[in-house]
Amino acid sequence: MRDSVEIVGINIDNVTFEEAEDRLLDFLQQDETKMIFTPNSELLVDAVKDTGFAQVLNNGDLVIPDGIGVVIASKFYGSPLKERVTGCDLMGSLIGIAYSEKKSIYFLGGKEGVAEEASQKLNDKYPGIKIAGFHHGYFDEKEEAKIIDEIIEKKPDIIFVALSAPRQEKWIYNNRHKLGVKIAMGVGGSLDVYAGRVKRAPEFYQKTGLEWLYRLMKEPKRFFRMLKLPKFIALAFYDAKTR
Ligand code: UDP
Repeated sequence: MRDSVEIVGINIDNVTFEEAEDRLLDFLQQDETKMIFTPNSELLVDAVKDTGFAQVLNNGDLVIPDGIGVVIASKFYGSPLKERVTGCDLMGSLIGIAYSEKKSIYFLGGKEGVAEEASQKLNDKYPGIKIAGFHHGYFDEKEEAKIIDEIIEKKPDIIFVALSAPRQEKWIYNNRHKLGVKIAMGVGGSLDVYAGRVKRAPEFYQKTGLEWLYRLMKEPKRFFRMLKLPKFIALAFYDAKTR
């Protein structure tokens, strides 16, 4: 039985970072594709309106609380989550595991060149890391069929998908039986971080739960997206009190 907390209708795994890492190792031993999703407040607000997205998230094999808002909201339900587990950190950990376990990785998503840059950067850090392939994230249906064929042919163990939410989660869910991978993880902007195109917030902001503030300062155009944070807190508060 998974220890999880249902927040605005979505089951979030109550795991520490180390426990999440143990799951990754376990997933790599399994025969079927395991899906990892990393919802933050913004995604959970979207999931309340989009029942298809909510269903996809609830089918995840590991659904981690990527944002501090999710951890705060869990307290309203009387079942506090142990800690925030970010998708960006867990992606880094999975890359390290792939290297030590000799598992191969495919990167799908990002602007032209980003997935390739991430592959090169990781090869510098982990010489000889197995990169099965990569493809940018701006494709139509016709190209998509070709990309899927390529993934099937290259047989990666892990695929990181950065197509922005909720597209990446739905893409993983819809293709999970075709891909033949052990782990498919939706990573969004984290791919840009590993490509070196976007800087992660300094540790101070991460530790104090203020990563959102740092990102807002760096990218003021995120302001309207971020209005979803107080909206999420209000939604979760109401949901917890009326259950
Ligand atoms: N992206 C993509 N195809 C699209 C839309 C977005 O490849 O059609 C990529 C984009 O280039 C970037 C990532 O998705 O690399 C951004 O994802 P998201 O918006 O989820 O970013 P986050 O919220 O994590 O900053």
